[in-house]
Amino acid sequence: MQIKKVLIANRGEIALRALRTIKEMGKEAIVVYSTADKDALYVKYADAAICIGNPRSSDSYLNIPAIISAAEISGADAIFPGYGFLSENQNFVEICAKHNLKFIGPSVEAMALMSDKSKAKQVMQRAGVPVIPGSDGAISDIKVAKELAKKIGYPVILKAAAGGGGRGMRMVEREEDLEKAFWSAESEAMTAFGDGTMYMEKYILNPRHIEVQVIGDSKGNVIHVGERDCSMQRRHQKLIEESPAILLDDETRKRLHETAIRATKAIGYEGAGTFEFLVDKNLDFYFIEMNTRLQVEHCVSEMVSGLDIIEWMIRVAEGESLPSQESIKLNGHAIECRITAEDPKSFTPSPGEITKYVAPAGRNVRMESHVYQGYSVPPYYDSMIGKLVVWDEDRNKAIQKMHVALEQLVVGGIKTTRDFHINMMKNKDFLTNNYDTNYLSKH
Ligand code: ADP
Repeated sequence: MQIKKVLIANRGEIALRALRTIKEMGKEAIVVYSTADKDALYVKYADAAICIGNPRSSDSYLNIPAIISAAEISGADAIFPGYGFLSENQNFVEICAKHNLKFIGPSVEAMALMSDKSKAKQVMQRAGVPVIPGSDGAISDIKVAKELAKKIGYPVILKAAAGGGGRGMRMVEREEDLEKAFWSAESEAMTAFGDGTMYMEKYILNPRHIEVQVIGDSKGNVIHVGERDCSMQRRHQKLIEESPAILLDDETRKRLHETAIRATKAIGYEGAGTFEFLVDKNLDFYFIEMNTRLQVEHCVSEMVSGLDIIEWMIRVAEGESLPSQESIKLNGHAIECRITAEDPKSFTPSPGEITKYVAPAGRNVRMESHVYQGYSVPPYYDSMIGKLVVWDEDRNKAIQKMHVALEQLVVGGIKTTRDFHINMMKNKDFLTNNYDTNYLSKH
């Protein structure tokens, strides 16, 4: 099937990022926007732009009837979901199919297998993928939770089966804290995801978060595009990502890639996806979840591979076969810093008008951002205003390049996390790769 017109069901930097590839492929890019995003760059650059509702996400970017109508009115034949919003919504995938719109992503079956994180662990375990010891599926009873925690040993972590973005998660060190943590995590999950299903696993001390980018096609071919280290986190949310993960030795890296490929094949996955693992001190890795969509940090994998991941998502959606694994050469080192409209110290949101904007540039410096001078950052959505991505021959050079690029980034009128990242590029522990996912909570 040849896709001619793609509707981008998203906003912000990822809408612009997708629009570029769609147009480069000679296709038309249709965008949708809320009234709060009427001045966004991706709206200006689109072949057609359709307003789908009020600022609130439920009125616009989560409004399925409005998005489907926009696709029909504009004559789109495919939907690009991006990340967040409807990208992992099985109902939306089914509705797209009913309206003859190709959803650029996995099948609803593959998505369903991975959507419940506790069930996904069971599927992966059956496929021979190492998982963290914990509950066999959901736990509904506090008594069962206590018995299990005793068996696997404290500390444990309670996690929401529907979780994402680090919400609905509680680490528990002692039995007397378990009950309170259980109820508070459950109610947080209920509020955030409308689903309070909880599961439990052993808490891995000071882990690194390392994930593998995979792509599957409709013929059952699967390739990986290397791994990313996303261990620099704040409250379980990623701030800096890089590829490769230099912590791994070649043998472990190879095993990790092979495991991800085996896992992708086991669920018959088509499109781009990510297997997330925690890696402990002994370099043993354990599956935590699969994201059945494009990720924010996909750009670092693009920089080390030279591949355009969105292009390949579209090509496999058109029925094309993937290139061979041997043809994918991973070179050098890429780093990404997420720049958000937040106070660099307290991380409190700082929406408002950008009065001055100068993006860094130069060889292998890539600023993925939808903002410009005079643009107003709306208060309704994610606070990310861009991703600064650099590539160089090795990690030290890439850090040095990132440092220079960050210093040349100017965003006036609002607070951003630029200075946080500048400090990280000078941080001794970051420079020596001596940190884990809890680093920022301790420093
Ligand atoms: P989410 O879907 O909310 O992003 P994840 O399951 O991907 O949740 O976990 C996010 C982060 O939480 C991980 O990168 C890690 O820092 C921390 N985490 C999750 N599970 C564990 C665990 N069992 N032990 C230690 N840390 C964990």
